[in-house]
Amino acid sequence: MSRIDLRLAALGLLLASCAICPPVVLETPEGVIRAANKESARKTAELLELYEPLVRDLFHAGRQQFKVDVGLWRPFDLDFEAYATPGHIVIRKVDDELDRRVVHELVHLYAAGDWDALPYMVDEGMAWVVSWALNGPFQATADPPGTERVREALVLEGDAYLSADEAFQTEMTITGIWIVSHVGWKSLVDLVDRAAEQGLERIPPEWFLMALPSPSEPAKCDSHWLDGDATHPVVRQFLEDRRSMTVALPRGGKVTGSIPPGVTELRIIIQP
Ligand SMILES: [Zn+2]
Repeated sequence: MSRIDLRLAALGLLLASCAICPPVVLETPEGVIRAANKESARKTAELLELYEPLVRDLFHAGRQQFKVDVGLWRPFDLDFEAYATPGHIVIRKVDDELDRRVVHELVHLYAAGDWDALPYMVDEGMAWVVSWALNGPFQATADPPGTERVREALVLEGDAYLSADEAFQTEMTITGIWIVSHVGWKSLVDLVDRAAEQGLERIPPEWFLMALPSPSEPAKCDSHWLDGDATHPVVRQFLEDRRSMTVALPRGGKVTGSIPPGVTELRIIIQP
């Protein structure tokens, strides 16, 4: 290979990596999306349209304008697959978990105000569990963390988490998921409200320990986690629609086609 060929090859590699390609910019009612390609931008816009109003309702939050960066490689980004800072969502890894990542980061964006009283790992666990609960039927289980781990997770601050190694971060995240799945959505809302009434900046660990079962029980969490009175009717309706599919067909008609993934109940209405 000649020197010029080598240079051309190097340029080709740079272009292929897209590190220097300008991002695709898409203005949406939810916010400005900057993405590595048109497909990621379009998919993200669809997910925001679907999930942004739901997450906003869930946390009784006001509408925010924000930026979303999807699949972009930027050297100054934090070393996470996805994260949110006020007014900005960054999703670096684009794969078939994009739905879950979008909801997870929307939770971080909208669980603000009184919700800032949640311990750091509880906030993180909540983003995971809500993202599963809104993404159709799911079941999650996690090994029991033990009392010491639960206490440790309840007092861990964000700085300590971010500077820890990956194994510790994973262990704390799983413990956060265990706490949130066991406390349940209604109790979580109650604890946040109680802390706001008492003017507390942080919910005391004891409040969680009282609301939790023995830490020797495995975490069990399913798609009904968000059901109940504490959940906004719009979100409840969305969950109900997601789990069931109604087909109306004329008398004597025939159902063809397939049932989409995630649907667990099929209602058939025979039209008169
Ligand atoms: Zn998170």
